[in-house]
Amino acid sequence: MALMTEGPRRAVQTADAWAMGLALDEARRAVQSGDVPVGAVVVGPSGEVVARGHNVREALDDPTGHAEVVALRAAADRLGRWRLDDCTLVVTLEPCLMCAGAIVLARVPRLVLGAWDPKAGACGSQWDVVRDRRLNHRVEVVGGVRADECGLLLQHFFEAQREAAAFSDGL
Ligand SMILES: [Zn+2]
Repeated sequence: MALMTEGPRRAVQTADAWAMGLALDEARRAVQSGDVPVGAVVVGPSGEVVARGHNVREALDDPTGHAEVVALRAAADRLGRWRLDDCTLVVTLEPCLMCAGAIVLARVPRLVLGAWDPKAGACGSQWDVVRDRRLNHRVEVVGGVRADECGLLLQHFFEAQREAAAFSDGL
């Protein structure tokens, strides 16, 4: 009986987990340019991947080059419209203030995030821009999808950076 009622919910969670796997693949690509490993994908209404993006701040010397902005721009370009009101944004780390703002401006109705960002997160941690009652658009937030994998990727990246810094200090 429990399986009957949990079926649909489980199916949705599986789709989110699958999409998060693609976002994790994107995140890993960021490391090649020394960028913080954050990845995002935009999923369309039929569950198809519309666009992908990873952090390119270092790669392009672009302070706005966050994975979410890259993916939202690519999705809008591909669909030929800025309004992404039938899409889901899936991202490995809780979006910052800028990206939360971009999600609202793109009218994205649903956000799936991996690891929470207690220091700079703007989707429930430090701020909750995407569910701010003063805005006319609010976003459904599904948090903690494959959070351990998303968090470990970041943790290992920053550990390696600290080790490299300590090594160069020692020379
Ligand atoms: Zn951001």
